[in-house]
Amino acid sequence: MATRIWRSAAGCGSSTPRSTTITEPERWTLVAGQAWASYLAGGRGVGAVAADAGVVCAVAGNADSPDGSGLRHAEIEAISRLSRETVRRVTLYTSLEPCVLCLGALTFSRVPRVVFAARDFSFSAGHRALAGAPVLGARVPAFTGPLGGRLGAFCRLVPIVADLHNYHGSGRLGLEERLTPGLVRLARDFTRAADEDWPDVLNRLGPDLDEVANELSHAETRLSRLGFF
Ligand SMILES: [Zn+2]
Repeated sequence: MATRIWRSAAGCGSSTPRSTTITEPERWTLVAGQAWASYLAGGRGVGAVAADAGVVCAVAGNADSPDGSGLRHAEIEAISRLSRETVRRVTLYTSLEPCVLCLGALTFSRVPRVVFAARDFSFSAGHRALAGAPVLGARVPAFTGPLGGRLGAFCRLVPIVADLHNYHGSGRLGLEERLTPGLVRLARDFTRAADEDWPDVLNRLGPDLDEVANELSHAETRLSRLGFF
């Protein structure tokens, strides 16, 4: 499906013809590119794109740093650039299933739909918990995901690599080590050439990412059968 990308968030959703057409895969290319740029800049390696009726109106990456507040998550960075009116219409595409902080922000802002590329098993349960809350529960966005495949595996790999490289492994890898040991092993072994861009990494790690995609899919099935999602 074709998507137009706006040069200005202010025009998002209007009929002003200041737009460029991009395809559905290109939308995920934007998301993955933001995730990669976030990792390179010292962030958490997550990217997000907000689109209103097919018009991309905000792109952002996680802008955290080891000395920062830890609150500059990609999803919040993206919707913060939109008007209150626009944010209630957008679909938010994100490289990683939103954390509890972003879930709260998306719910509070009344973003109606979220599509994520990779599951974050640590935070999935938060959606169900908030959905049962009075008032706010009715505002929890409709979630679709994970995207799966090689790109989905890449979007799960990057924040783990970012955690290991930018935050000295300060994150929550215990669950991932148990559920998806191949993914964590690939992240621990990850190195890159100085000039290597993310599509090069995607190609170089292709077969490994395919294995990780299978591992993630099996974990998704196992947890789904246990009623986790
Ligand atoms: Zn978040």
